[in-house]
Amino acid sequence: MSVAEVAVIGGTGFYAFLADAEEHTVSTPYGEPSAPVAVGTVAGRRVAFLPRHGRHHEFPPHLINYRANLWALRSLGVRQVIAPCAVGGLGASVAPGDLVVPDQLVDRTTSRAGSYVEHGATHVPFAEPYCPRVCGALVAAAPEVHYGGTMVVIEGPRFSTRAESRWYAAQGGTLINMTGAPEAALARELRMCYAALALVTDMDAGADDGQGVGQAEVFALFRKNLERLTGLLTATVAELPDPDGCTCSTWADGIELTYELPS
Ligand SMILES: [Zn+2]
Repeated sequence: MSVAEVAVIGGTGFYAFLADAEEHTVSTPYGEPSAPVAVGTVAGRRVAFLPRHGRHHEFPPHLINYRANLWALRSLGVRQVIAPCAVGGLGASVAPGDLVVPDQLVDRTTSRAGSYVEHGATHVPFAEPYCPRVCGALVAAAPEVHYGGTMVVIEGPRFSTRAESRWYAAQGGTLINMTGAPEAALARELRMCYAALALVTDMDAGADDGQGVGQAEVFALFRKNLERLTGLLTATVAELPDPDGCTCSTWADGIELTYELPS
């Protein structure tokens, strides 16, 4: 039986988002997720929340167990994931405080376990990395949300050099972050719908002539926008269409996958 249908993977501030949350401790074949999964009711739907960096922000971006996190959510029955994240802006089309639903990503991470495929030939379609239905619900829920743009995901935990940022911007990057991959690809492998909701907290190092981004300004802007984000997430959950028949899942119809999905 499904414990939750929808999940939010985000910062610890989102705990307050769930009414009457109950906690589920989940073990996976890939190790422990970042924290127990909190499940509560939002807009009449059962929604799971997982703090990506752990309950006390103990996991830096490159050491998050992304496989365990996505697997744990799927094992609770989740089929649609909304992933709020903090991002830097790479160009003049975005500014601090903007909310962006990206439609593309470039994975520049290097050390992460990024797939459940460990043998055999399963090749996952990923030309469109984000779910069109969940993206649509996010955009419908708030007129100020920008739709579209490419999110570059770097390994971290350090920020980019000015030269790297300029290079990413010149290659067409709009946003830069450290957690968007392999999260999106793992969701696709597990046949879940997934969309990112990016809050621009700063302009990245190469995008202006300032001193470059600092951790304090990122955290401060995220805290300031938490209420706005939770309001938008609640409205989005209410708008989410049925995941049945979405291409995020149907790509695997008729394919014998070389890894197990949670039952
Ligand atoms: Zn989908």
